[in-house]
Amino acid sequence: MADKISAVKGMNDVLPPQSGDWEWLEGIVRALMQRHAYKNIRTPIVEPTGLFVRGLGEITDIVEKEMYSFTDRLNGEELTLRPENTAGVVRATIEHAMLYEGGKRLYYMGPMFRHERPQRGRYRQFHQIGAEALGFGGPEVDAEIILLAHQLWKDLGLKDVRLELNSLGQLPERQAHRSALIAYLEQHQDQLDADAKRRLHTNPLRILDTKNPELQSLVNQAPILMDFLGPDSLDHFNRLRQMLDVCQIPYQINPRLVRGMDYYNLTVFEFITDSLGSQGTICGGGRYDSLIEQLGGKPAPAIGWAMGVERVIELLREQQLLPTEPHPDVYAIVGEAKDLPQVLVHLQTLRAAGLSVQMHASPRTEWSNMKAQFKKADSSGATYALIFGPEELQQGVVARKPLRDGKQAQDTIALDNLAQWASHLQSTAH
Ligand code: ATP
Ligand code: MG
Repeated sequence: MADKISAVKGMNDVLPPQSGDWEWLEGIVRALMQRHAYKNIRTPIVEPTGLFVRGLGEITDIVEKEMYSFTDRLNGEELTLRPENTAGVVRATIEHAMLYEGGKRLYYMGPMFRHERPQRGRYRQFHQIGAEALGFGGPEVDAEIILLAHQLWKDLGLKDVRLELNSLGQLPERQAHRSALIAYLEQHQDQLDADAKRRLHTNPLRILDTKNPELQSLVNQAPILMDFLGPDSLDHFNRLRQMLDVCQIPYQINPRLVRGMDYYNLTVFEFITDSLGSQGTICGGGRYDSLIEQLGGKPAPAIGWAMGVERVIELLREQQLLPTEPHPDVYAIVGEAKDLPQVLVHLQTLRAAGLSVQMHASPRTEWSNMKAQFKKADSSGATYALIFGPEELQQGVVARKPLRDGKQAQDTIALDNLAQWASHLQSTAH
């Protein structure tokens, strides 16, 4: 046999029955987005590398070391598999002048790519569901988009998800804080690790985001950005807080919350759970009022979040909230191969009425015997077996055998009544 080829490390296949969990989650998200008037957007998985370099900032983990970038062999273009989708959504809104008539509320679902060390809750291809509200500047949209995520946890039944909130203010406020932060960190140079030393003069704010436990106490005593916010930033933050309070959305203010991308300002937030170990952030987001202009668009404010699908699914599994695997309503057993054409017609009738129907299919060229078919019917988990035997078909009927209700007896049903029975079953069982 030929050598097997395996999937790329850190990139997972999602197989049945787990793929059913994904579809279930996606269905709940679609309904939620529809209720909040957010519309679906689908942008390419490959974008020009410059989009992310300009959008995320050069001195970020993602751009420095996590991007799958390559040169197109055929035309020399510099391309990157998207590590996140806010930059792509912003590029699309600019390219198609989508904000021309006012703001847009958008959502997406799909794979993202980051070259990280694979571990629980951290993969190289992973999936995000994201929401973006572009062209709105007021804190009411900050509240709306946080409520949207909060409602998703509610719709899914998730417990133990907490909201952390912070304000990053505006650029001059961050610059004043930055100077104070650099002065503080310079006083403690000897305690910094290599990463932090390198970032001290390029991106000191990111040092606060460090995952190194040895830096925690140093970071905890550093100057706080909140203390540098001017009246407008504080007002935006306080109005958001008031709206969340009235809506009874609990949150904690975390002055160290800075997030991984450079483009954020004012509101930033994360939804965190303690049940997933160190990969506990299931959703993160914030305002990015300068990104649209930075990517060549007419200046417009925006806010968004992205959640990690793998982490949310794992949390759902942990809390035993995933749906049970659905079984077919009907497994079709066929006595003789010559009857297959007309059986196919009857099965389409059942499916048209909404039933889930699995047809027996032979693994070989000769048709399966009845015993083998009954075995398959039993293991399919179907509610009924319909037995299309040659005598029954001749009489215009089919045998109907309940597979899961031992008390119900086998009987026959007229082929002409199949559609009616299917509708009845559909309306009672589902
Ligand atoms: P982290 O601090 O865990 O690296 P991040 O700040 O890089 O997260 P974002 O870029 O904000 O994450 O992405 C939003 C969400 O996407 C995260 O909260 C997380 O749930 C998920 N996520 C990010 N990177 C990965 C990954 N490599 N594998 C799986 N999920 C991920
Ligand atoms: Mg990361």
